[in-house]
Amino acid sequence: MRPRLYLLPFLCLVLCFSCTEPNPIIGTSEITKWPNDKTGAISVTYDDGIINQFTIAKPIMDSLGLPATFYIITGKVEGAGKGKFIGRDPKVILQETATNPTDSNNFFERASLIAFTGTTEAEDYHARVGSLFESGKVKEAYKLLDEGYEKIREGKIKNTGEIVFHNNVEDTTTWAQYREYSAQGHEIASHTVTHPRLAVLDEINMLYELEQSKADLLKNIGEESIFSAEGPYGTENERVMEYAHKIYPALRNRMPEPWLEEINRGNTKQPGQSKKEYVQWQRGPQTRNTLEEMKSWVDTVMNHQNIWLVLVIHGVENLGWEPKTKEELTGYFSYMKANEDKLWVETFRDVTKYIRARQNSQIYSKMENGFISISLQSELDPTVYSVPLTIKTYIPEDWKSAAKSGKEPLEILHDEKGNYVLFSLSLAEPKTEITNETM
Ligand SMILES: [Zn+2]
Repeated sequence: MRPRLYLLPFLCLVLCFSCTEPNPIIGTSEITKWPNDKTGAISVTYDDGIINQFTIAKPIMDSLGLPATFYIITGKVEGAGKGKFIGRDPKVILQETATNPTDSNNFFERASLIAFTGTTEAEDYHARVGSLFESGKVKEAYKLLDEGYEKIREGKIKNTGEIVFHNNVEDTTTWAQYREYSAQGHEIASHTVTHPRLAVLDEINMLYELEQSKADLLKNIGEESIFSAEGPYGTENERVMEYAHKIYPALRNRMPEPWLEEINRGNTKQPGQSKKEYVQWQRGPQTRNTLEEMKSWVDTVMNHQNIWLVLVIHGVENLGWEPKTKEELTGYFSYMKANEDKLWVETFRDVTKYIRARQNSQIYSKMENGFISISLQSELDPTVYSVPLTIKTYIPEDWKSAAKSGKEPLEILHDEKGNYVLFSLSLAEPKTEITNETM
């Protein structure tokens, strides 16, 4: 035994050293995945600006304090730029259709024009041609366009001078009302001027649909209305995406980011399998989806950490495509509200801003002289990416209180790694200090 005694002082030193060495987590910070360290996010979005969305669904959400996103067809609003065909003389184009069958050289021009040749049938031809084209049936799309133009030449489709919108149901909402809804915290955003099949428009007409809508929203509401947009029919057409991504920072259609998996409405894949940092999981509640089924989507969000449920709602009560009743919506939104401690219910715009800012910011955090200094660095524009980020900072175990900037008292929380505080920091004011007492 005796020879080993010489090890004792050394052992003591090691043990004592490890007693006093502070927990390395202390003074470290992270940006939480969701604000206030919640479990997941939900954005409730509505398409087409159908009046019942504002008179029935919105008041339910307002009574619960939940914000929504409304993608509106701006050409329907009084005082906005209207839908129109931009290009060569329509009479010349019409004459050409009599002798030259549709092919790849004239397809986009003809598909753009046909929607503005009057009556529902013209819009219907445009939409059906677009649907065929987007599903890869290009030859069939050419043929259908020829059929439509033949009817026009024979006077079977008359130009009434009226622009016929997709899903042409009552929509009397004014800019003044939209401004008010935006001021209440809802997002009012673009669903183009006339709801066309963007994939079959030529460049100038596609740009008009995207840019005129943006200009009207900017003029009548403001910057907060031109961040996100949705191209009609959920299009993911590459050519459209290339143009639209240059005009709007975010599209519900598609958001290519290496850290984001997108599961769109038609996809049956389960979001829980994804290993990506975030999953945007779109579900479009249709008439046949029961309240229980819709609640199960919310449960899925709460049972994981990385899911952003994006709901796409069209009809409400008895108006619009695949309507949901007032009763179902009340039950559904109340369920979200009841779980608000875990769920971040926010507009499509603000969820995008949060996750994009989190993924594109570095956080620096250091314990020094009894306080913790924290700063954020990001290349993003702080005036655009203005949604505050939640910071989680681990504090020394012996701190009995904590404050941000020496002023704002913070609640001390605890997890398996140690004691921590939560507070917000924005890219516009990216620095702060956490102290153990208020000054
Ligand atoms: Zn739509």
